[in-house]
Amino acid sequence: MKPLAKVVSCLDGYDPDALPVDTARAAIRACLEPLRESERVGTRDALGRVLAEDIVPAINVPAHHNSAMDGWALRGADLLADREVALKEAGTALAGRPFRGEVGPGQCVRIMTGAVMPRGADTVVIQEVVRRDGNRVLVPAGQKAGQNVRAAGEDIQAGVAALKAGNLVRAAELGLIASLGIADIIVKRRLRVAYFSTGDELTAIGKPLPQGAIYDSNRYTLHAMLAPLGMDVTDMGVVRDDPAKLETAFRSAAAKADAVITTGGVSVGEADFVKQLMGKLGEVLFWKIAMRPGRPMAFGRIGAGRRAPFLFGLPGNPVAVMVTFHQFVREALLLLAGRGDDCRAPLLPVQAAHAMRKVPGRTEYQRGVVFREAGHWKARTTGQQGSGVLRSMSEANCYIVLEHERGTVQPGEPVQVQLFEGLE
Ligand code: AMP
Ligand code: MG
Repeated sequence: MKPLAKVVSCLDGYDPDALPVDTARAAIRACLEPLRESERVGTRDALGRVLAEDIVPAINVPAHHNSAMDGWALRGADLLADREVALKEAGTALAGRPFRGEVGPGQCVRIMTGAVMPRGADTVVIQEVVRRDGNRVLVPAGQKAGQNVRAAGEDIQAGVAALKAGNLVRAAELGLIASLGIADIIVKRRLRVAYFSTGDELTAIGKPLPQGAIYDSNRYTLHAMLAPLGMDVTDMGVVRDDPAKLETAFRSAAAKADAVITTGGVSVGEADFVKQLMGKLGEVLFWKIAMRPGRPMAFGRIGAGRRAPFLFGLPGNPVAVMVTFHQFVREALLLLAGRGDDCRAPLLPVQAAHAMRKVPGRTEYQRGVVFREAGHWKARTTGQQGSGVLRSMSEANCYIVLEHERGTVQPGEPVQVQLFEGLE
């Protein structure tokens, strides 16, 4: 295993005491080693999983040329450019019940959507434009040879990967895999994630609150943010700021997880146990990220070797936990889980509804609301922006992402937002 410090020191702008968010993201990416283990599952159980193999179909979809419309199948060569043509109906082709004969010159076959194109026919004329006269079918001028036919292999070609390893299996992928007749596939095993909160002041919910204590909320936000990622998650509870207890917790997390998330204990001036222990147990980098909220963060590995779990030491402040999770941890976990696509929530441009104070030199994630006014999408911030105030997250539907170099934003200026919706 290459030392992480060596990997990250090669990055442009790497300064652990003032690390721009993009550099921090690049540093994490550069260090990650995705899961290798996979397992075979039934197609239905592949929902939400990551493909470990390309899906290469054995069949064409559609398997045969077929009709895209209800109408009559005929030979394009029989069409007349400037006048109506009369054809003789030779039979019927239904979806699942093909016409067995061949369509000869001057003939046509009644055909329904999805039915296999009969031999000889290469064109479908829709029923709405056709007139019938006894056994004769009158096709108007202006029809084009080849129209309204879906070609075999038009959607998916046999032998060509329809889905790639690293794709997430969602509804469309599940249906696509089923459309190929595939009953089981190989997916990455689920990423194992363990997390715990640290702090002497933390009290579990449902108990009386001692003087000076606070309820532990971070494990609940983490639970909620991890749930949609389809991982195998273990909540390890609260660990006191006590070196022996912390060491036990880290070792037991490391034994069962691919990634460990902690909250608290990484800020400056903190009773330094968490930091010290992280340093002792493996290789951990401590960063002050040029962002708000979420400045201190630790990233590293517990132990050595390929199986050493990755560690994300998040700050304790509840809003900072959410922001650092959304901006760094979520993407890192998805990459570890084997995702091959860009899993970051998109940044969308909208108008600032009012002035937003900002100093250059750090990225700010203001909690905001995107709304529509006079035909324009705009964003406003939600109340108090302190990093302990979860209410500002709860009232928001997006982050307003104010870039590193940017100063105060004037009303009407473009700002980028990241919808919470895409982060779920
Ligand atoms: P720390 O990083 O440990 O100094 O924590 C920073 C702030 O976040 C302190 O005010 C803590 O009380 C608060 N905090 C830490 N952990 C939690 C938690 N699990 N739930 C709610 N607040 C927390
Ligand atoms: Mg603490």
